[in-house]
Amino acid sequence: MPSFLANMDTNRTVLAYFCIAGLDILDDLDKISEERKQQMIDWVYQLQVCNAEELVSGFQGSTTLNTMDNNNQNSTYKWGHIATTYSSLLSLLILGDNLDRVDRKGIVQSLRSLQLEDGSFKGAKEGAENDMRFVFCAAAVSYILNDWSGIDVEKMVDFVLKSISYDGGIGQGPDLESHCGSTFCAVAALALSNNLEKLSKDQFHNLRRWLLYRLDTGFNGRPNKPSDTCYSFWTGGALKILNAYQFIESDDNPQFVLMTQDRYGGFSKWVGVFLMSIQYQIQCIPILD
Ligand SMILES: [Zn+2]
Repeated sequence: MPSFLANMDTNRTVLAYFCIAGLDILDDLDKISEERKQQMIDWVYQLQVCNAEELVSGFQGSTTLNTMDNNNQNSTYKWGHIATTYSSLLSLLILGDNLDRVDRKGIVQSLRSLQLEDGSFKGAKEGAENDMRFVFCAAAVSYILNDWSGIDVEKMVDFVLKSISYDGGIGQGPDLESHCGSTFCAVAALALSNNLEKLSKDQFHNLRRWLLYRLDTGFNGRPNKPSDTCYSFWTGGALKILNAYQFIESDDNPQFVLMTQDRYGGFSKWVGVFLMSIQYQIQCIPILD
């Protein structure tokens, strides 16, 4: 990756998932040869950690912590992370793998060790936050593996319901500000675990209303924040799960998203931001020299 993205190195499986899923959504996955797809599948499997003893089974984000000494064996801090496990499993499925090399039992057992007393999940065994992002990852991994024995679902649902804020949206946890990212994660976790009906009539109505009000020029993620392309996914996705996307009547959001596309084909958060950051990089080069 380019040097200014070096800090993303530990999340390479997540970035790979965005690329693979992006091509799939664009119906262009056949632009990758079968041989290359197999290489990608093998690369993902190479990052699998099977360590039931320490309950850290899953997929790593990259080979950053793999050395010649610990290659193909378990070692300190060689752990799976719930978000990279989630994205690795999806990449494998999209690439046509049947998950037959996945250590299902190890992953499910390790999931169990990540759930906290309040029902939330942390991302990894130690040194990770616990919030709605990882609740979603845990639900998605359980859904993909078709095994919910790694989750206390009742506690998980309780955590989601307690995280509903006074305004109808959902935060990263109880008493935290409503946000479309955490709202998507919460709604998707309920839907994947077949628990959407645990929302009361009022909660359901208020949630849809709060999400619909996020449309500005594009979608924003919270009241009084500017529109940002990523909320096409978070807000749009939550509205679709709640069967409310059809109430958005304007074409403003697709227009907004197209305006953020740069000349290389990528999309930025806001209009003109990508070019600004490239100019910033160029300006910085003489200083770094
Ligand atoms: Zn964003």
